[in-house]
Amino acid sequence: MRALRLPRWKTEPELVEVDEPTPGPGQVVVRIGAAGACHSDLHLMHDFEAGAVPWNPPFTLGHENAGWVHSLGDGVTGLEVGQAVAVYGPWGCGSCARCRVGADNYCEDLAAAPVPGGGGGLGMDGGMAGYELVPAARHVVPLPEGLDPVQAAPLTDAGLTPYHAIRRSWPKLPPSSTAVVIGVGGLGHVGVQILKATTAARVIAVDNRDEALLLAEECGADLTLRSDGSTAEEIRKATGGKGADVVLDFVGVDATLKIGVAAARTVGDLTIVGIGGGSLSVGFFSVPYEVSVQTTYWGSRPELIEVLDLGARGLVRPKTTTFGLDDAVRAYRMMQDGTLEGRAVVVP
Ligand code: NAD
Ligand code: ZN
Repeated sequence: MRALRLPRWKTEPELVEVDEPTPGPGQVVVRIGAAGACHSDLHLMHDFEAGAVPWNPPFTLGHENAGWVHSLGDGVTGLEVGQAVAVYGPWGCGSCARCRVGADNYCEDLAAAPVPGGGGGLGMDGGMAGYELVPAARHVVPLPEGLDPVQAAPLTDAGLTPYHAIRRSWPKLPPSSTAVVIGVGGLGHVGVQILKATTAARVIAVDNRDEALLLAEECGADLTLRSDGSTAEEIRKATGGKGADVVLDFVGVDATLKIGVAAARTVGDLTIVGIGGGSLSVGFFSVPYEVSVQTTYWGSRPELIEVLDLGARGLVRPKTTTFGLDDAVRAYRMMQDGTLEGRAVVVP
């Protein structure tokens, strides 16, 4: 089969011929119906180097996958060949306290995981190929009725990651509250929809591209703002001077973190999801009183089941553009150039 592989750090991916995987005991091979292209892949190609994460290339890209069960290893029960499934992406040890509650994203026994702190497309072979080997059957989640792989694939990261970040802030998002989404790309546009579907907060979307702000409006944003030196002030104005109860930064560069801090309301949340390399100085007087600043990494398996349900019921619909495997590099280039809307999905 053909696979889009990252051969080394700081390199463009290559489309090469590799062997089709066969499942060992307890494993599952998924025939890929769709594999989403995430901006994290651009960070892998351009920004990361040895030591940045506890794994290294080469591996097949694609950590946002859905398709159909192709073959089952010995001892796998509860799944059928041909069944439509999504792949839960972070692959932990399966035995630690976090993995036991389905939060492999925060596995605490990294040495016992198939890849420490990664998954398929992140240190191990991912879904930008015809088939993906999933090392434990628990990572394969049946798709609810009405959800096809092209919609489901982005929900496994562009959906799950914002869902996790938003869900933990639900108590701070009652009616009359304001949530700000900075960066309305793959993750952010789904984030706006998740906020609208699961809270009654007013949603302000921020981006530096007009097309992204239009997409934010389509997704239900109540107000859209250009990302610049006056954004935080505009957010304060729009909230009667109070600021935003929850700021979700899907960019994570110095400029957006600065907006986030300046726009946050006392007792609010500032959640950094984007891996843009920015940093923030947190001290007594440098953030509003009682603002919680946190990063989040991906989400849990129970949360994936919830976000797939939102997708199946049409409450959350990623805007997708599909590409063939031959064209996957072009999808990444468009993402890099800012000419992509929503999520690029590779259909091998
Ligand atoms: P994307 O390229 O699809 O979207 C990024 C958006 O941010 C674009 O719309 C772009 O115009 C906008 N943007 C760029 N600079 C901006 C600025 N200064 N102000 C406002 N908007 C700006 O990317 P994506 O796939 O949605 O990923 C977003 C980020 O989240 C990436 O850094 C990615 O690596 C990271 N990520 C993190 C996790 C996690 O678990 N924490 C998971 C997936 C992705
Ligand atoms: Zn674990």
